[in-house]
Amino acid sequence: MNSEIHVAFVGNPNCGKTTLFNDYTGAKLKVANWPGVTVEKKDGRLKGKPDVVIQDLPGIYSLSPYTLEEVVTRNYLVAEKPDTIINIVDASNLERNLYLTTQLLELGIPVVIALNMMDIVRKRGDKIDVSKLQDQLRCPVVETSAISGDGLQQLINQACELAQLGKASQPQIVFSQRLEKTLAQVGDLLETAGVLKRPELKRWLAVKLFERDEKLLAELHLSDTVRQRLEKMTAECEAELDDDSESIITNERYDAIAKLVKSCVKKRKSGLSPRFFGKKY
Ligand code: GDP
Ligand code: MG
Repeated sequence: MNSEIHVAFVGNPNCGKTTLFNDYTGAKLKVANWPGVTVEKKDGRLKGKPDVVIQDLPGIYSLSPYTLEEVVTRNYLVAEKPDTIINIVDASNLERNLYLTTQLLELGIPVVIALNMMDIVRKRGDKIDVSKLQDQLRCPVVETSAISGDGLQQLINQACELAQLGKASQPQIVFSQRLEKTLAQVGDLLETAGVLKRPELKRWLAVKLFERDEKLLAELHLSDTVRQRLEKMTAECEAELDDDSESIITNERYDAIAKLVKSCVKKRKSGLSPRFFGKKY
């Protein structure tokens, strides 16, 4: 039995992945290239616990198939299926970062969120209600600062614990009723057509096929009949919601995230620090 735990670091560019990776792996850091592509991947072993293998992946904003970084990261997540994803989030840019988070939660892999750059959030005087965020996303959220090392032990412990439990995340973003109806139809179609080899990927595949993700459409080798049915379901929803399918998903995702952030984040009234005004508080 393979007792190694594979942990994937996923996040936007500049959220602190490499800083965290270096912290965890220390001298054992190893740099390699994905075969055939120029995007860099890194893997390393956790200092003092070499059975934990950490995979640093290219920084991405979405799991779309448009950039090389996106393709490399999503191929790794879907094909290699790590035991846990640590989704590193720049807490000082929460709303933008959660766009990727909500997609990662659709992959059926356990996810822990590292709310990184908390030192910046605190310095700004902003407040994030972590337990509310955790409840709403229904996955563990750990506050970290890769620079100071705060929260790093708790984060990796949480990731290993989750990997051992093997409890997959559940997609938490609920779209509009109309869109959910079509996604359910697409999911059922995949099931009855026998192309859903891994049931935990149902939500992700339904969303991606609704978006007409060319890469997945090619990979799944759908029959003409299934393709036509899929196209009909998608087109009907587009007509009713008066937009193209990709924009429907993007907009509804952003709307849901905006609501979530509004309920969890309290910003200081002014964007300027007290010191800017020469006042002592
Ligand atoms: P990556 O692109 O996700 O690998 O991000 P890096 O690890 O290269 O970090 C990007 C920048 O953010 C660097 O200048 C880091 O020093 C800085 N950084 C990373 N984590 C933190 C943090 O928790 N707090 C602060 N203040 N800066 C951080
Ligand atoms: Mg980096």
